[in-house]
Amino acid sequence: MTEARKEPWLGTPARTIEILQKYGFRFQKKFGQNFLIDPHVLEKIVRSAEIGPDDCVMEIGPGIGTLTQYLAYASREVYAVEIDRNLIPILEDTLSDWDNVTVINQDILTLDLNRFVEEHNGGKPVKVVANLPYYITTPILMELLEKKVPLESVTVMVQKEVAERMQASPGTKDYGALSLAVQYYTRPEIVAHVPPNCFMPRPNVGSAVIRLTGRSAEERVPVHDEKLMFRLIRASFAQRRKTLFNGLRNSSELDFSREQIEEAVKKCALPQSIRGEALELWQFAELADALSDLRESTEP
Ligand code: SAM
Repeated sequence: MTEARKEPWLGTPARTIEILQKYGFRFQKKFGQNFLIDPHVLEKIVRSAEIGPDDCVMEIGPGIGTLTQYLAYASREVYAVEIDRNLIPILEDTLSDWDNVTVINQDILTLDLNRFVEEHNGGKPVKVVANLPYYITTPILMELLEKKVPLESVTVMVQKEVAERMQASPGTKDYGALSLAVQYYTRPEIVAHVPPNCFMPRPNVGSAVIRLTGRSAEERVPVHDEKLMFRLIRASFAQRRKTLFNGLRNSSELDFSREQIEEAVKKCALPQSIRGEALELWQFAELADALSDLRESTEP
C-alpha cells in the first residue's frame, strides 16, 4: 500500500514568517518576490489548473515552496524552477515530505523548455502553474507560447492589468500584441482576482489568476505565415495612434512596398483609415495571407 501524501502546511502568514526567520531570508525585489500566504487562493489556483494524480506540473519560481506543496500533493510530479539560490536550502526543507518534486536552480528564461518537456515528460503536454515574478511575466509567457512548448494549460498569478490585457477584445484600450498572441495560442480566462494582502510582502498592485488553455494547431486561426502575422501585429501596435496602413508602411520589421500594403488592405475589405487596434485576430491572419500571396506572385 502506498503511503498517503502529507497535506500542504506552509500557506499561512505564521508558517511563512517562521520559515523566513529560521533561514534569515531577505526578500529580493529584483526577483519579484511576493509569497502567497492565503490557503484559499492556493487551493483556488490548484483547482483552476485542474491538477490530478497523472499530471506533470512545471512551476516557475517556487519561492519557499508554498504553492509547490499544494502541487506536489495533487499531482504525479512537479518540476520547480527557481532563480534565487538563497531559496534552495529552504526548499529542501519545506519540500522534504514530498518525493515527487525536483527543484532546479536556474533562470527560467535560459532553460530550453522544449528539451525540458521532452526529457521529463516524454514530450507530452505539461501543466504550468505559477505565481509569476511580475517583472518578467510577458517574456515568460511569450517564451512558452512562441516556442510552442507542449502545454495543456498555463495557470498563473499575474498583475491584474496584465491579465486584463491577455483577455482584451478589439477596440478596447487593453487590446494589443499580448492579447493577440495569447488568444492565438490559447483560450484565456480570468479565474480569480487577488488583493495585495494575500502576499508577503504586499505588492503595490492588484493581482489576478488567469488560466490559458492551450489550443491545438487545428484549433488556431488558420494562417500561412504565422511569423509574418505577428510582425504585422507588432507593427500595428508599435504606433497605436497611426492607421494600420501607416503603421505597416513605417515599420522597420516589414519590407512591403506602399502599393503592396495598399492592395492587401483593399483585398481584405478594410478601410484605409482603420487602426490596427480595431482588427480581430482572423483579420490579421487574412492580411498576412494577402501579403504572403503578393510576395509570392512578385518573386522571380
Ligand atoms: N511561488 C511562490 C509563492 O507563490 O509564494 C513565490 C512566487 S514569487 C511572486 C516569484 C518567484 O519567482 C520568486 O521565488 C523568485 O525568486 C522567482 N523568480 C524570479 N525570477 C525568476 C526567473 N527568471 N527564473 C526562475 N524563477 C524566478
